[in-house]
Formats: sequence, C-alpha cells, structure tokens
Amino acid sequence: MIDIDGAAGEGGGQILRTSLALAMCTGQAFELQRIRAGRAKPGLMRQHLTCVKAAAAISGAEVTGAELHSQTLRFTPGPVRAGRYRFQVGSAGSCMLVLQTVWPALMLADGPSSLSLSGGTHNPMAPPFHFLERSYAPLLRRLGAASSMTLRRAGFYPAGGGEVDVSLEPAGGQLQPFDLLARGERLSSQAECLAPGLPRNVAHRELEVLAQAMGWIYDPRQVVPLRQNEGPGNALMATLTHEGVTEVFTQIGEKGVSAETVATRLVQELRDYLRLPGALGPHLADQWVLPLALAVWQRGLAASYTATALTPHATTNFDTIQRFLPVRITTTASTDAGWQVTVHP
Ligand code: AMP
Repeated sequence: MIDIDGAAGEGGGQILRTSLALAMCTGQAFELQRIRAGRAKPGLMRQHLTCVKAAAAISGAEVTGAELHSQTLRFTPGPVRAGRYRFQVGSAGSCMLVLQTVWPALMLADGPSSLSLSGGTHNPMAPPFHFLERSYAPLLRRLGAASSMTLRRAGFYPAGGGEVDVSLEPAGGQLQPFDLLARGERLSSQAECLAPGLPRNVAHRELEVLAQAMGWIYDPRQVVPLRQNEGPGNALMATLTHEGVTEVFTQIGEKGVSAETVATRLVQELRDYLRLPGALGPHLADQWVLPLALAVWQRGLAASYTATALTPHATTNFDTIQRFLPVRITTTASTDAGWQVTVHP
C-alpha cells in the first residue's frame, strides 16, 4: 500500500488522477489522505469521483472512501480490462480529466477500448478537448499508442452536456520513449473560437484582438460553427504546429470577463511560450511526464524533454510519479532556454 499525501506540493486533483493512473498501470494499491486539501472546496468533487469510478470500472478495483467530499481514499486495482465504457461526470466538471485518468492504463491493456464521455469539454483548469486531441494524443502515438477522438458536443460550465467519443488502441508491446528537446520549425499558427449561445460579436472581438496582437490574419471562418443547443460558453484557442510538437493554448471565457480580456490573456500565454525555445508549454510539461515515465520504466531507457516553464503542477506530478514507478526525474534550468526534464530508469 503506497501512502500518498493529497496536500503535498500543489495539493490538487492531479495527485489523485496520477495515483489512480499509475496504480492501474503497475498493479499497486494506494491510500490517499487529505485529498485536495489545498483547494477551496477540499475532498472529492463530482468530477474527481467520476475519475475514481472510471478507474474502478476498468480495473475492477476495491475502493473505500469513494464518496462526494471524501478526503481519504483507498484504491486496490485488479487487472485492467479493455472494452467499451461510458463515463458521465453528471455536472459541468471536466470529462477530459476522466479520460486522462484511464488513458495510460487502457493504452497498456491487451485490446482496443472505446469510451463515450460526457460532462465539460472546455473547462478552466483542465485540458480542453482540442488540447488532448492535437497536443497530447500525437505524443502518445509516438510512444506507440494510437487513438482517435470525436467532439460530439462541446460542454461548458455551468450547463455541461459535452459529449466526446474516444477510441484507444493498445500499445501492443512496450512503449518507446523518445527525446523531445526542440519544437522545430513552425509550420502553422491557427486561431479558433468556440462561442455557442453567445452574441456573435464575442468571437469576432476575441479573434480580432488575437490576430492584431500576434500579427496573424483574421478570418471569420475561425469562428467554429455551432451545434444545436450547445453552450452557452466560450473557448478561444491558438494552435501552434511545429515540426516536433503541436501546442494548443486555450482561454475559457466567463461571465463578467470581457472578450478583449480573454484574448489578451491568450496573447500573454502565447508570448510566454514563444519567448523561450523549450519544446513544451507549461501544461503539456506537467502532463507529458506521466506517459513518458511509463515508457522509460518499460524500456529501461532515459528520455528528456524541454519546457518553457515548470509549474507546481509539474513538480508535484514528478513527486507522485516517483512514488509509483522506479524512475528518477531530474530538472535543469537555464535563463535563455527554460527547463530540461530527464526521466531516468
Ligand atoms: P488540477 O488543478 O490538479 O486538477 O490539474 C489540472 C490539470 O489540467 C493540469 O494537468 C493542468 O496542466 C491542466 N490544464 C489546466 N489548464 C489547461 C489548459 N488551458 N490546457 C491544457 N491543460 C490544462
């Protein structure tokens, strides 16, 4: 039984999700105390509970403490079963975080899986659908695990109702770790705006501010067509495709925050990324380490990546990963390059 302190480091839901994912990948049980003690509403929220239930469903785990607001959880996984699953958050909480919880275990399973997920697809403080589809999934494919994702309906806070279908192919053998040291040449920069259920000028104003600040061309086709009954909600996205990696930066609009502010925040994120040569932005840098560490563990080969920033999310994730996998994660920083992270067997 691995004892994990949910209040360590950044103290958020990532400690729970990483523990669930790696418990299933390694067959180790864990007890998590002080769940999300660092958050305003501590304990398991509906979205976290769905992650626990999804993990239990695919691994036949024995679980105690899987209740709303619970601050302690014991999770003893059984063998992971590939298959067809439906996971519903039942609120506007992110179903993308549920996907990310079960993804590593299902990519190591012995058959393909198909998932249908519902809940939020574009939430603040969570990886949005387009980020997982364009940034994260292609990197997992390079490790050896292919997938495809379909956005059936976007879901935003507070209405939720997003729907996503995902097909996951198993890696079929060991994952292949690789270095990701440079982003490579830029191939394209693409702006898009989802603004279902909002006045049309919101998307136009956001895209115009973004285009002007970045020196991009504004094109009304960047307003993503609406589906019926979607929203209300707003996500402004910029996809930077480089030879070595695709990054998707997203700002979620909210009531009381102007379209111009949403766009200006995204411009700041883009400038922070473009100022340094690191391959990964701050979000990918905290998420990429888990699948990479699995590959390093399986093959016994070290691998590195560079990043423009390492957040407390990233360093907390490094700590959790090192509790479950026999890997060592080291970091070096330089002012002109950003960070280099190496996962050693
Ligand atoms: P936590 O706050 O512990 O529940 O973790 C949130 C997770 O969502 C972290 O892995 C963040 O990097 C990720 N995340 C938050 N915002 C974004 C975003 N705009 N794009 C991609 N990932 C995000």
